[in-house]
Amino acid sequence: NLSQRLTTVAKFVPQGARVADIGSDHGYLPAALALQGQIEYAVAGEVVRGPYENAVSEIKKLDLAKIIQARLADGLAAIKDSDRIDTITIAGIGGALITQILDAHPEKLIGVTRLILQPNVGEARLREWLMNHQFQIMAERMVAEDGHIYEVIVAEPSIVPFRYSKYELTFGPFLLEQRSPVFAQKWQNELQRQENVLQQIKRASKPPVAKIKQQEKYISLIREVLN
Ligand code: SAM
Repeated sequence: NLSQRLTTVAKFVPQGARVADIGSDHGYLPAALALQGQIEYAVAGEVVRGPYENAVSEIKKLDLAKIIQARLADGLAAIKDSDRIDTITIAGIGGALITQILDAHPEKLIGVTRLILQPNVGEARLREWLMNHQFQIMAERMVAEDGHIYEVIVAEPSIVPFRYSKYELTFGPFLLEQRSPVFAQKWQNELQRQENVLQQIKRASKPPVAKIKQQEKYISLIREVLN
């Protein structure tokens, strides 16, 4: 009974993985993975004591302490070398915070062969971070749940250099290809929102020209993709 969103994240966790779930809250994701026999080991990292304690009691209740360790730590500091983590999941927070977490401890990413990320916002910036750190996007999904449309981004370290276009960074290389009905819905909503923002900026007593130009550029990018 994992949410659709976390079920989609879980689908991309390789069989037998050693996972660090950062910002785990109750630890529902690693718990479900352990119960399904999908993982060998997991760390459930939490920076806030309340959620950390929720994870501790969830792990105890389900008798999963042999497989899952809850740790109270900021971001990737939850990971120890002896964990031999190969997969990192970070879900339910903004893309900017995800990049901050990944940036803070580059040494913890050594040996990691897959990142499964579910940013609530700021997807373009996260893709840009991945590109600039040689993590190539291997798959993407869009999930509609509870009136929100979520993106799941799966990335792996790449030895071959690659670049993403402005379109790919904004819309997602795979999402752009798939063009699912939720994709159109998400970007229709975004277009509407951004047009309202533009109208508001224009109504200012001294409309900021550069900001208007930038906003118009973003809007025409969305229009192009929707056409
Ligand atoms: N990952 C779960 C999910 O997707 O349902 C929980 C998402 S919850 C909205 C975000 C969690 O991330 C919160 O429990 C918060 O305390 C935790 N968090 C935020 N920043 C963090 C950080 N730097 N390190 C570890 N956990 C963090």
